[in-house]
Amino acid sequence: MQRVAKVKVKAKYRVGIGEGLVRLYYFRLLYSLTMNKPCIICIAITGSVARKENNPVIPTTIQEQIESVHESFEAGATISHCHVRNEDQTPTSDPERFALLKQGIEKHCPGMIIQLSTGGRSGAGRERGGMLSLRPDMASLSVGSNNFPTRVYENPPDLVDWLAEEMLKYHVKPEIEAFDLSHIVQAAKMADDGRLKKPLYVQFVMGVKNAMPADKPIFDFYIETLKRLAPDAEWCGAGVGSNQLAVNEWSIAAGGHTRTGLEDNIRLDKNNLAPSNTALVKRAVDICEKYGRPVASWQQAREILNIK
Ligand SMILES: [Zn+2]
Repeated sequence: MQRVAKVKVKAKYRVGIGEGLVRLYYFRLLYSLTMNKPCIICIAITGSVARKENNPVIPTTIQEQIESVHESFEAGATISHCHVRNEDQTPTSDPERFALLKQGIEKHCPGMIIQLSTGGRSGAGRERGGMLSLRPDMASLSVGSNNFPTRVYENPPDLVDWLAEEMLKYHVKPEIEAFDLSHIVQAAKMADDGRLKKPLYVQFVMGVKNAMPADKPIFDFYIETLKRLAPDAEWCGAGVGSNQLAVNEWSIAAGGHTRTGLEDNIRLDKNNLAPSNTALVKRAVDICEKYGRPVASWQQAREILNIK
């Protein structure tokens, strides 16, 4: 029998050359799979909190929103996460406004994935899902409650189940907004018992005041937990406020997808307001370049997320 050659290292680290090569090959394969994987950039254009008084470039009218999405799409964003506002900039869940925005994006950004928000700042109860019958490609879905900066973000089980049912009914892919570890666990459970369609798409939201902070070991544990409970899931990272850049970088470096935009952060840095959503998209594109990640085209994004 042929003797396996040994590398001259301390006994406890000694590895046969064959085994060493297999490990090296495995890590290179893992690295190339992670690093060549296209990164989906989501642009959260408006949100429901920041107003023009905070940053005058926040798009609040439908026309401004369509223009901002279009520019962002051309810069590399392939998901547009949308909220709508009333004339006075207050948030609303008005399906008619959502319909106008959806039509405009479809016309000016063919192929882009449209994701409408069912977030709780824009409405209460089932009003939050009134736009799901428009059959957008995606909608955000929170599967549990947590604290927000000044109040409780209420997502009671019966409302969550109803929103999930509506999404199944209208073939809308949910993006699970994980503000807490328990939300990842709950989403996996809902996918296992059929309340959500597999594979899941989960977004880790970090840095909301009074909810989960942007903490790297927790971020790593989120990924590990999701891989364990829902191995076929894809994930995305979003950092709020000054955490946006760090979470963009963590997500891109770890092989995930990422979200940026004025909804989460109105600044470029401590001293400068962001001049546009596009500027924030370009920043994410630059990070992809730094880590050798191609930016997903809309075709690739649809394929990765299993959206026709
Ligand atoms: Zn949102």
